[in-house]
Amino acid sequence: MSTTHEQKAQATGGWLRGQVALITGGGSGLGLALVERFLGEGCRVGVLERSAEKVGALNERFGADVVAVQGDVRSHEDNARAVAATLARFGSLDTFVGNAAIWDHAAGLMDLPAEQLDSGFDELFAINVKGYLLGAKAAAPALLASEGSMIFTLSNSSFYPGGGGPLYTASKHAAVGLIRQLAYELAPKVRVNGVGPCGMASDLRGPAALGQQDRRIMDSRSPEAIAGILPLQFFPEPADFTGPYVMLASRANNRVLSGVMINADAGLGIRGIRHVAGGLHL
Ligand code: NAD
Repeated sequence: MSTTHEQKAQATGGWLRGQVALITGGGSGLGLALVERFLGEGCRVGVLERSAEKVGALNERFGADVVAVQGDVRSHEDNARAVAATLARFGSLDTFVGNAAIWDHAAGLMDLPAEQLDSGFDELFAINVKGYLLGAKAAAPALLASEGSMIFTLSNSSFYPGGGGPLYTASKHAAVGLIRQLAYELAPKVRVNGVGPCGMASDLRGPAALGQQDRRIMDSRSPEAIAGILPLQFFPEPADFTGPYVMLASRANNRVLSGVMINADAGLGIRGIRHVAGGLHL
């Protein structure tokens, strides 16, 4: 086992020292930032990722501290393989992070013909909602054994309209219900929480059913537009969102939060009516 990340964790008093996590969609964007941050906190990490190229890059870059498995979150077998590979390499599992998802480039109800709404729903919900459910199912026995936790990536679209179209917004609201139900069902042994980021530059794409499989989020958004609507007035990096996950996963720092969703969205919930941020003149 490489000692680089553990040494760093010891030097910094890493919050996840000795823990093991499994992260879906860890090949780019927020998932990759979580892999990097969790390693830096002393955690060893399994990844389930659809892109074979990203899986190869993860295994090459991180060596023995990461086991990346190529597969699709829509498949129970692939989720089970990722859990088995993580347990085989590291011996236990403390945290499952459901994170892999796709967007819909804010395609509205009136933008889409009915047949695309139909097939787009099936594809997007299968990844964003069924993928979380199947990941939870595969990881639950190991988490019950370790009395660990689950964390799901939500979005500003879990709470507010207009950050996506009806497909994405409904899928991210559905994940809120999943968190509440699983937090109830898996208590008292497993804590289940969510983190809802706002816009960031990543490889986030849309459903093939909508012809959006090669279209990335920043093809539809600009850093200035995202920063402009946020009370904290900056364009976050994926790494900026990782702190709440570390806190939620940490056994020492989170014994009491379950069924909680952290709005990691640079203050969207306190956006003002007259001005985005009341203190802009200060
Ligand atoms: P990303 O595309 O960079 O990362 C998602 C990863 O998931 C990719 O590596 C992709 O290959 C993988 N993936 C996609 N479908 C998969 C499948 N079926 N099976 C396995 N892996 C699959 O995008 P991101 O922005 O980092 O997205 C991560 C999370 O952040 C998502 O839940 C997304 O909804 C959420 N989010 C993103 C933004 C944003 O502005 N980028 C804003 C709010 C929330």
